[in-house]
Amino acid sequence: DKKQTIHFGAGPAKLPQSVLFQAQKELLDYNGSGISVLEMSHRSSDFTKIMNTTENLLRELLSIPDNYKVLFLQGGGTGQFSAVPLNLIGIKEDRCADYLVTGTWSSNAAKEAEKYGKVNVVHPKLDTYTKIPDPSSWSLTPGSSYVYYCCNETVHGVEYNFTPETHGAVLVSDMSSNFLSRPVDVSKFGLIFAGAQKNVGCAGVAVVIVREDLIGHALTECPIVLNYQVQAQNNSLYNTPACFSIYIMSLVLEWIKNNGGVDGMETLNKKKSSMIYDIINSSNHFYTCPVDVACRSRMNVPFRVGKKQGDETLEKDFLDGASKLGMISLKGHRYTHTHTQSGFVACYVTISGDVLENPSAVRNRICN
Ligand code: PLP
Repeated sequence: DKKQTIHFGAGPAKLPQSVLFQAQKELLDYNGSGISVLEMSHRSSDFTKIMNTTENLLRELLSIPDNYKVLFLQGGGTGQFSAVPLNLIGIKEDRCADYLVTGTWSSNAAKEAEKYGKVNVVHPKLDTYTKIPDPSSWSLTPGSSYVYYCCNETVHGVEYNFTPETHGAVLVSDMSSNFLSRPVDVSKFGLIFAGAQKNVGCAGVAVVIVREDLIGHALTECPIVLNYQVQAQNNSLYNTPACFSIYIMSLVLEWIKNNGGVDGMETLNKKKSSMIYDIINSSNHFYTCPVDVACRSRMNVPFRVGKKQGDETLEKDFLDGASKLGMISLKGHRYTHTHTQSGFVACYVTISGDVLENPSAVRNRICN
């Protein structure tokens, strides 16, 4: 008898079952239209309603101020690594931007931005992506167009539990893997973006929340599909958007709203991540988490098995054993920046994952 599968993947991640059921129910005939959302014109009244519902739910859940636009774009999080500099680096004459590089994703974003202007990494370079450099060591560049950081480094399990202070400079955040997982004061940001497939749906769409005064400064070489001004003027319909992914997002947002909104998500995320950290901390160093306690992610918990640097044989046994118990996608990325941390195992705890829906079953299986 097959055990119920518990999916720990960071993204595409587990979706709430009620969302999948509803999508299944509506798949062949959406709202009596006789067609599927998969087949629907993006300019139809049914799809217009889906877009409006999605945007309104996001505005409500995050209390997004009126002077911010919400865009639904293609190209994923990586598309935004390019779109951000293409749209914002030209805001100031110097065409330079400050980056905090605390893991793979912010590192990739900084590399992409270098194509379009000068990138300053504002803190001493990190040897390992296991901590956030102390803000007292940052030196922000006067005249930079924006300050960029990744709020939750998915691969490394490093999460900011504070909003960086930029002394008036425009703050940009990649929230792909902790979007809607806790309350955020949007007014502190110039721009927030998030790919949907981690916390708010499936792949295909990225949400961009951008302050209006930052729109309209794109470099001439900015591809038109990534141009915030063009997309904002066309309600994200300059070209055909990822209609089905936006529809799934509307269902997930509804689910989040019905489960206590971002405050409810924060409570749940604290609960499920501390469940995993508690097991690690009480394992007598059998499991170890390399990340500084101050910035341990509530979304992705990387850990090694066997000893501090990991015992690869035991880690393989762990993954095989987990898979026999129906626990899948536990294998994390290999750390490439330092050989001492290669091949680590990450337990990805995602916002709407099974850990949330059935915490005691997960705990029992992990403890076994
Ligand atoms: N940013 C973060 C924090 C991520 O975790 C990821 C992907 O896994 C990305 C960006 C890249 O997103 P995408 O695969 O949608 O391009």
